Amino acid sequence: MWLNSILETIGNTPMIELNKSVKGLPCKVLAKVEYFNPGNSVKDRMAIKMVEVAEKEGLLKPGGTIIEGTSGNTGMGLALAAINKGYKCIFTTTDKQSKEKVDILKALGAEVIVCPTNVEPEDPQSYYSVSRRLAQQTPNSFYVNQYDNLANRLAHYEQTGPEIWEQTEGKITHLVVASGTGGTVTGTGKYLKEKNKDIQVWAIDSYGSLLTKYYRTGELDTKEVYPYITEGIGEDFVPQNFDMQYIDYFEQVTDKDAAIMARKITKEEGIFVGYSAGSALQGVFQLKDKLKKDDVVVVVFHDHGSRYVGKIYNDEWMMERGFLEVKTLKDIISGRK
Ligand code: PMP
Repeated sequence: MWLNSILETIGNTPMIELNKSVKGLPCKVLAKVEYFNPGNSVKDRMAIKMVEVAEKEGLLKPGGTIIEGTSGNTGMGLALAAINKGYKCIFTTTDKQSKEKVDILKALGAEVIVCPTNVEPEDPQSYYSVSRRLAQQTPNSFYVNQYDNLANRLAHYEQTGPEIWEQTEGKITHLVVASGTGGTVTGTGKYLKEKNKDIQVWAIDSYGSLLTKYYRTGELDTKEVYPYITEGIGEDFVPQNFDMQYIDYFEQVTDKDAAIMARKITKEEGIFVGYSAGSALQGVFQLKDKLKKDDVVVVVFHDHGSRYVGKIYNDEWMMERGFLEVKTLKDIISGRK
């Protein structure tokens, strides 16, 4: 028995009950562990879907070049699709992203252009602007635009939602998703609410992002937006993949709390998660007063911790940012962590 290509291993990821790391929460918490996808993240699902839809619509033609602004995970999925379907890839990313993520994309044959993080989206140097410009200048290219390309949320409506419904035998009461483009939370949330309108969908955001404020007030004012460290979540604009009608609550988490929680999940469950998984579970703790004993919470863990070994899993990196206390000489002598 074999598969025709690596692409057939996308999806059907395991759901795993969290045991030690959820002490203090009143109910069952299940993790949908998306790093089991071949590119080690949930984004493989939407990447292949966006490519397939573009092929069907004639936007992506044989020998074409796929162009995208990506924090790494979408690029990974697109690169897997490109290798197997004969396309080239050019990605733009920001200097905030892990070096590991950029090197992985290069290993998969993509050209990667690193752009500055701290500029407005409209700035000609921003990774959005650079990718758009490249798409205009490159013949036979397809600009993916994961933010506004609705095949993104469709992938989750068609796959992630049904998988979670089946794996919980319809018992899920809360879906918790750290959100960036909004594809995962909207597509999965829409499917689950169609199955049972009482399911609560919570989107988890980072402090510094615009999304929570927009959700709560409808304002698009970016005055309170500021740079943050957590990768893959939060935005300084509202992508079209968001459909706020499927979201019941938005909660913000700090970079520090998310990093500490990700390390806790890894240490206490042996599930080696990425940064945004920490945001998602921290969000559940912050909202625990809304939970009851019989609730069944499903938290999406978006990607794998290996991409963050030089960051949240590195003590010096954590200490430099005040996320871990600097060890005193007394601690070191007594061998305390
Ligand atoms: N976590 C990580 C690590 C991601 O790469 C992404 C994708 N930007 C998300 C969370 C958020 O997923 P979505 O874009 O579907 O909202």
